[in-house]
Amino acid sequence: MNKVIVYIGLGSNLATPEAQIRAARQAINALNAAQETAFSSLYRSPPMGPQDQPDYVNAVMAVETDLSAIELLRCLQKIELDHGRVRKNERWGARTLDLDILLYGQQVINLPDLIVPHYGLAKRAFVLYPLQEIAPSLQLPGLGDISALVQLCPLDGLVRLT
Ligand code: ATP
Ligand code: MG
Ligand code: MG
Repeated sequence: MNKVIVYIGLGSNLATPEAQIRAARQAINALNAAQETAFSSLYRSPPMGPQDQPDYVNAVMAVETDLSAIELLRCLQKIELDHGRVRKNERWGARTLDLDILLYGQQVINLPDLIVPHYGLAKRAFVLYPLQEIAPSLQLPGLGDISALVQLCPLDGLVRLT
């Protein structure tokens, strides 16, 4: 099967978020079928939705994989659960780990469980800025050039951590 470059958005705001992001990076690399090709800086961002929760730490990772998009989603969901993610009814509530598939090559996917490009990508500073850091000339299917998207997206309190 052909290898595809996939961009994964990582986020955490519980239980030492930096350590969660580091552990998730290791767990993704431990998947035999995915090899890291790039990893952004860590960023801090204020929460979306409910404001009575800690700030998030975010990053974006690129991997090369021969997993299908759905197979990769299942692997990422297992890693979320292994790292203490508890699914609640509240949308955008605090979590130890969120792993979203941002892009799967140049494919557009509209399955009940999987929408790619990720539906929030074009509006979210905590995704666009780290994505641009590791893929400055990226073209996003249906959305255009990463630099044009970044220009239209205010920082919304996003801070790059050293
Ligand atoms: P948001 O999707 O707004 O970032 P969230 O990441 O907190 O919110 P989750 O609870 O992690 O949402 O996932 C909700 C559902 O989104 C999952 O059950 C999954 O099937 C679905 N989903 C759809 N598209 C994607 C994608 N590109 N990456 C990850 N999950 C997705
Ligand atoms: Mg998410
Ligand atoms: Mg998610």
